[in-house]
Amino acid sequence: MVTSPTLRPLQKPRRCQLGLEAQHCYCHGAIWGRMRVPPASPRPAPRPGCPHPPGKDFNYSSSEFVDGFLKYGFNTVLSKSLGSEREVPDTRNKKCFQKHYPANLPTASVVVCFHNEEFSALFRTMFSVVNLTPRHFLEEIILVDDMSDSDDLKEKLDHHLEVFRGKIKLIRNKKREGLIRSRMIGASRASGDVLVFLDSHCEVNKVWLEPLLHAIAKDPKMVVCPLIDVIDSVTLEYWPSPVVRGAFNWHLQFKWDNVFSYEMDGPEGPTLPIRSPAMAGGIFAINRHYFREIGQYDKGMNLWGAENLELSLRIWMCGGQLFVLPCSRVGHISKQRFPNQPEFAEAMTYNSLRLAHVWLDEYKEQFFLRRPGLKSVAYGNISERVELRKRLGCKSFQWYLDNVFPELEASEGGR
Ligand code: UDP
Ligand code: MN
Repeated sequence: MVTSPTLRPLQKPRRCQLGLEAQHCYCHGAIWGRMRVPPASPRPAPRPGCPHPPGKDFNYSSSEFVDGFLKYGFNTVLSKSLGSEREVPDTRNKKCFQKHYPANLPTASVVVCFHNEEFSALFRTMFSVVNLTPRHFLEEIILVDDMSDSDDLKEKLDHHLEVFRGKIKLIRNKKREGLIRSRMIGASRASGDVLVFLDSHCEVNKVWLEPLLHAIAKDPKMVVCPLIDVIDSVTLEYWPSPVVRGAFNWHLQFKWDNVFSYEMDGPEGPTLPIRSPAMAGGIFAINRHYFREIGQYDKGMNLWGAENLELSLRIWMCGGQLFVLPCSRVGHISKQRFPNQPEFAEAMTYNSLRLAHVWLDEYKEQFFLRRPGLKSVAYGNISERVELRKRLGCKSFQWYLDNVFPELEASEGGR
């Protein structure tokens, strides 16, 4: 039985298990606290269409469950039984319901990269986008297959994609590129005004896209993230996340951080954009031309990891802004990662080094203070990225600390 797989800290730094912090789950028509409500409280009966945790009879020791969990990092037995479409709870603050968006907004190309993704989770991602996005805002969905070798992602995928005919572009990489270069490949084929990146195991929520498009329409240098709700890796329940901002520590590990009360306590409540020092990674929207203008991603980075912090620093230091929009909600399966994937930790280290050498100025010593073993580790050629920083006339990391994320400098011990 796989109950609580252990994570190597370095392998899962980008996205916190927000579910652990989420206060409530209201999948079942009522709200109950994970920690607050005494265990004796009766659970309301599941509503039709609402996911429910596997019952006592769920077989956690079946080889199907264990194999799926080890391969994909979540409960694939349950995922298959949920199928391609389901309704998830509307987790927005009620004040979001009063917000209205112009009928005329930029169009979006939704870019989804995948490597050996579980089939039904991939399809729920696509169906939720198609079902919950007004047609005229959705230019296309661009799927980038990063050299998957699972059989069901070959002809079977082509066949099933027919239902989305006209809205889908499928690109198959000829070699494994990793998610960073795959996103750039997807972006290069996009024609919408705005790029929206999603992981291949997401479910978008009601009115998820309009707040993102509206913010970018007002300011093309504004990069925006939805609030990432948690889809539990075992129960696949959809949990609302508290309003948080993205941050990181001196190890260059991403973490979620509390939001200042003045950003949420005004008459509009927790509906206004939250200034965010960093983005979690896979899920954000950016003007397509602006993405190119500020240098897309560092294509010298490998596989996965640290690209989110690199882009976040670049946005802030080079004249853009990064916000979380609490009225836009996207659920994401918080996959478990296992220590049998050392290549992810390796890539994360390599990518973090590239980030540190290009963007941290004298503060890279703070990083090496915490990780002295990395001081002499190779990180490839960064001259193009250093050149980009000069060309864009970007500000110093000291400026970023003073103006965007002063809490980082104050933090001792790199917690
Ligand atoms: N991915 C990819 N190529 C890779 C690694 C990941 O296309 O080499 C995809 C993956 O299938 C997923 C997205 O990139 O859709 C983000 O990866 P993952 O969900 O593993 O990252 P996490 O959410 O754990 O940060
Ligand atoms: Mn993911």
